[in-house]
Amino acid sequence: MTSPPPSETALLEDLLDGIDRGVEAHLAWNQKLLRCALLRQSPGEEMLSANAPELCRLGRWLNRVRVRLDALDAPLTVRIDRIHHEMHNAVRSMCVKLLEGNPSHPDELRDYERSQSELVQLLNTLRQQISTATTHMDALTGLPLRHGLQHAFELRRKDAPRLHSTPWLAMMDVDHFKSVNDTWGHPVGDLALKHIAACLSGCLRQSDYLVRYGGEEFLGLFLVHESVSVAALAQRLLESIRRSAFHTGQDSDLFITLTVTIGLAAIRPDESLQSAVDRADQALLQGKQQGRDRFVVAPA
Ligand code: GH3
Ligand code: MG
Ligand code: MG
Repeated sequence: MTSPPPSETALLEDLLDGIDRGVEAHLAWNQKLLRCALLRQSPGEEMLSANAPELCRLGRWLNRVRVRLDALDAPLTVRIDRIHHEMHNAVRSMCVKLLEGNPSHPDELRDYERSQSELVQLLNTLRQQISTATTHMDALTGLPLRHGLQHAFELRRKDAPRLHSTPWLAMMDVDHFKSVNDTWGHPVGDLALKHIAACLSGCLRQSDYLVRYGGEEFLGLFLVHESVSVAALAQRLLESIRRSAFHTGQDSDLFITLTVTIGLAAIRPDESLQSAVDRADQALLQGKQQGRDRFVVAPA
C-alpha cells in the first residue's frame, strides 16, 4: 500500500522546521566565525567557497523548498536569497583578509552584521506568513479552509478562456454522514472525513482547488478543457469514494463504504462566487432528492 501524500498542514510545518534549523545553523556559523577570528584560523573551505550560499544548510534548504516558498510569497523569497548571498560575500571577504594577516574593513563588518540581522528578520517574516497559512488550513483533513477561495475563484475564471477551458465549481456533500457518527461515534466520523478528503484530492490535479467548505461539505474549483467532459471528472470523484471502503482503524475488521453527492455549476464569465455556490448547491440538493451518490449539473 502506498502512503498518502503529506497534507498541506504537514508541509507547512515542515517549512517552519526548516526555518528554525536555518536560523540555528546561522547562529552556529556566527560562533564559528568569531572563534576563527580570535584564534586566527581558517574557517574552512565551505565558508570561503564562492558557492557557500548554496552549500550552507540554509542555502540547501532554500533550494529544496523554493517552489513552495515562491507560491507563498515570491518577492520575500527573492529578498531572502539576496540578503543570504550578501551575508556570505561579506563573510568571505573578511575571512580572506584575516587569513592574509590583514584586518577587515569596518564597512565589511557592517555589511556582515546588517545582512545577518536582516536575514533573521526576513526569516521571521516568512515564519509568520507560514503560521498564518497554517491557520487557514483545516487541521482534520489538511485541506485549505475558505480564506483563499475568492482569489482562487477569480484566478480560474480569468485564466479559463486563455486555456480553452471552462471553470467549474463543485459542491460535494457526504451522504448520510450523520448516521456514521451515530453508529460508530464521532472519532470514526472524523477519520471518515480525512479519508474522503484524501480520495477527492487524489482525483484532482495540482492546479485544482479543494477546500473543506463546512462540516462534511467540500468545494472544488477546476478548469475543464473544452475537449473533455466534466462528467468524466465527476464520475471519477464519485467512484474514488464509492470504491474505497474505509477502514475504521480500530481493533476490528470494520470497513465502511461511503458515498457523496455532487452539485456542479459551470462558472459564468461575470458570475460572483456566491452565485456559483448557490447554483451548485441547488444541483446538489437535486442530487440528494434523486437518491444520492450521483452528480447533477446546474442549468447553464
Ligand atoms: P445527507 O445525505 O442529506 O447529506 O445527510 P447527512 O447525514 O450527511 O446530513 P446532515 O446535515 O444531517 O449531517 C451532517 C453531519 O455531519 C452532522 C454533523 O454532526 C456531522 N459533522 C460535521 N462536521 C463533522 C466533523 O468534523 N466530524 C464529525 N465526526 N462529524 C461532523
Ligand atoms: Mg451537509
Ligand atoms: Mg451530508
